[in-house]
Amino acid sequence: MSRERLYLFDTTLRDGAQTNGVDFTLADKVVIARMLDELGVDYVEAGYPGANPTDTSFFAEKRPARAKITAFGMTRRPGRSASNDPGLAAMLDAQADAICFVAKSWDYHVRVALETTEEENLASIRDSVRAAKAKGREVLLDCEHFFDGYKANPAYALACARAAYDEGARWVVLCDTNGGALPHEVEKIVGEVCQHIPGDHVGIHAHNDTEQAVANSFAAVRAGARQIQGTLNGLGERCGNANLISIIPTLKLKPEYARQFEIGVSDEALGHIARISHGLDDILNRAADRHAPYVGESAFATKAGIHASAIIKDPATYEHVAPERVGNKRKLLVSDQSGRSNLLAELDRIGFAVDKDDPRLSRLLDEVKEREAIGYAYEAADASFELLARRLLGKVPRYFDVEKFDVTVEQRISAKGERVTVSMAVVKVKVGDEVLISAAEGNGPVNALDLALRKDLGKYQSYITGLELTDYRVRILNGGSEAVTRVLIESEDETGDHWTTVGVSSNIIDASFQALMDSIVYKLIKSGAPA
Ligand SMILES: [Zn+2]
Repeated sequence: MSRERLYLFDTTLRDGAQTNGVDFTLADKVVIARMLDELGVDYVEAGYPGANPTDTSFFAEKRPARAKITAFGMTRRPGRSASNDPGLAAMLDAQADAICFVAKSWDYHVRVALETTEEENLASIRDSVRAAKAKGREVLLDCEHFFDGYKANPAYALACARAAYDEGARWVVLCDTNGGALPHEVEKIVGEVCQHIPGDHVGIHAHNDTEQAVANSFAAVRAGARQIQGTLNGLGERCGNANLISIIPTLKLKPEYARQFEIGVSDEALGHIARISHGLDDILNRAADRHAPYVGESAFATKAGIHASAIIKDPATYEHVAPERVGNKRKLLVSDQSGRSNLLAELDRIGFAVDKDDPRLSRLLDEVKEREAIGYAYEAADASFELLARRLLGKVPRYFDVEKFDVTVEQRISAKGERVTVSMAVVKVKVGDEVLISAAEGNGPVNALDLALRKDLGKYQSYITGLELTDYRVRILNGGSEAVTRVLIESEDETGDHWTTVGVSSNIIDASFQALMDSIVYKLIKSGAPA
């Protein structure tokens, strides 16, 4: 059976860029556009040419891509001709494959916000579409506030959409600008619109203000729309836009959609979607959402013992899709709730063959429970768990000993008369018969300790040169003067692997030291350093 083509339109660089705290540089935009192109979306909406220097530079040159690079902006201003509107001219001059105009489609907004007549708004849509077509561009019209407008005055909302379609716009996009529409309303209204405009010319642009932007996008597709607009990770102002990172796997992996529709995303690209999602978070310098559907670290994690034993027998028992399809991993959590089956599965995953009746297994389980009771969190710290298991099963070489360390924090007035805080660490390490003393200054005590520890490990130094700390998280447990500090450190190496280690102590430096040591030892094992 031949499948219908469904188109994906990404607006991370335009609508997503309107998010509080998001400020893409030109370099960011180029990288994100490349990621989107690699993913296989059909349109990359990259911004407003002429509106700010970053967007203007983006569109100043032709950016080769499979996806259609799309410029965004308003239809011609009321009372002006299309040839005498600088905003429109900037869009027409941009090096773009497609132009997406935004226009009012709610009569109330036309009168109150635009302060013009309904007829002049329709004329502005027609003139703008015509001008862009004449320039050889593919044209889209975003009908702003379409659903609210349609509820108030269906004939006028539809007239705006028709004006663009009749003038030759490739797509008329129905926008839930305020994000308040519900799936059954979207399905009904899109269905009515598709009686006047063919569905393969209708798009949906949903905002997430009721947490239903993804559901609303699917409701529109069910009713006939054939273009979905959204952003990576649902980035967007207020509560965000429809999340393409959730929509794409559903379209590819759920038979109801996969059988009916074809999209530009290949199976191979789908296998990289988790990396693309995390890549955007890296650019935004924020932690990835662990609980994000399909791509979050916890999306295929199982904690309770009976689920884990079933998962080992057949993963399909507790997984709606196979994690590898979206570039994610199955994870069985070792924690105080876990049973022997969890532990066995986790040991198996990290390459230990242990018999299920091995007495050392009970010792390891008891040790994990005892340590978790005082604040260790092994489900978050995979590398520390692996070291603990290796130690109890007698398999961690004693590479080196830290005989002592000293960390100082000094605040003084600098030569420029400014108050500065400097941290310094001195570490005495014994590697075989060799005693090594290293000192380092850092921007804080943990940073200084880390630098001093990794400065000279003698014959092991070459094994840890690619080690980098990428995240450091501190949490104070059970408050008050009895407080205990838990430190989680995330590390990465030259191969791109990353792992997390944990330390717990009433002293933050000591907790950090434990986590740092675990990370270094883990890296030495991983790199095959000789004992
Ligand atoms: Zn929007």
